[in-house]
Amino acid sequence: MIALTIDCEQWNCPLLEGHDVPENGETRQSREGNIRLLRLLRSTKVPATFFVTGDYALGEPAQVRKIAGAGHEIACHGHSHYYRGNAELDLAADIKLAKQTLERVVGTKILGFRSPQMQYSTQLLEILDKFGFAYDSSLHPAYLPGFYNHACSPLAPFRPLPHHLIVEIPVAVSRHRLPISWLFTRVLGVRRTIGACRWLLAQGVTPVLYFHSWEFIPMRSRHVPFYYNIQTGPPLLADVERLINTFGPDQFCRVRDLLRDPVTVAKEKEEDS
Ligand SMILES: [Zn+2]
Repeated sequence: MIALTIDCEQWNCPLLEGHDVPENGETRQSREGNIRLLRLLRSTKVPATFFVTGDYALGEPAQVRKIAGAGHEIACHGHSHYYRGNAELDLAADIKLAKQTLERVVGTKILGFRSPQMQYSTQLLEILDKFGFAYDSSLHPAYLPGFYNHACSPLAPFRPLPHHLIVEIPVAVSRHRLPISWLFTRVLGVRRTIGACRWLLAQGVTPVLYFHSWEFIPMRSRHVPFYYNIQTGPPLLADVERLINTFGPDQFCRVRDLLRDPVTVAKEKEEDS
């Protein structure tokens, strides 16, 4: 199987790049991207996991409910979407607010989490476990200086905390531990992503691919480096369609489907706490 995952957030990449401009905080980009992607997922009958920020769910509650209603998984992507380099961040408070907001909007228990900017840490896992999350998918087991330094981490799901039930489900990388998702698919080509998925499947690992909702519209922001904008919109939609056609729509699953049994895991956690 392959898990297609989408990070759905308010657009704040200019802020993350150090630019305090009015477009930070807008939900339009992700909303319009979701509309295009959902059309493709509906026509191919492919399920996906959307990691949604609490802030986005507050801004676009009807769309988030619609995504859940279509059978996709809604998981948590924090609230503020500003984790890397944010000295003001209260990690536990941000996660708690996001989980409560999402559960109120969607009306079901949220099982999964992915950190904004993939800020994987033991502190993060301990907070997630305490709040009753069944899994985290913030580990990018890649080596990219300045961004990811997890070249020796496992590629397959594992239990990162001894004596705790939370499961870590790493995102997919290439054989050489290089990223293959989002901008790396757009810039380096979907054939490379497909090749890496085949290699992971041969190792018995389910590839967890990730993109952002806003990548599915043509982005033209002047306040971010070129690689945020390049090949966004129709070219990326065509890439995802090619992924689906290559492996077959019935080979795609939600991240929660990779857990042993999500309902049992959640129940065990409730009994545990
Ligand atoms: Zn994000």
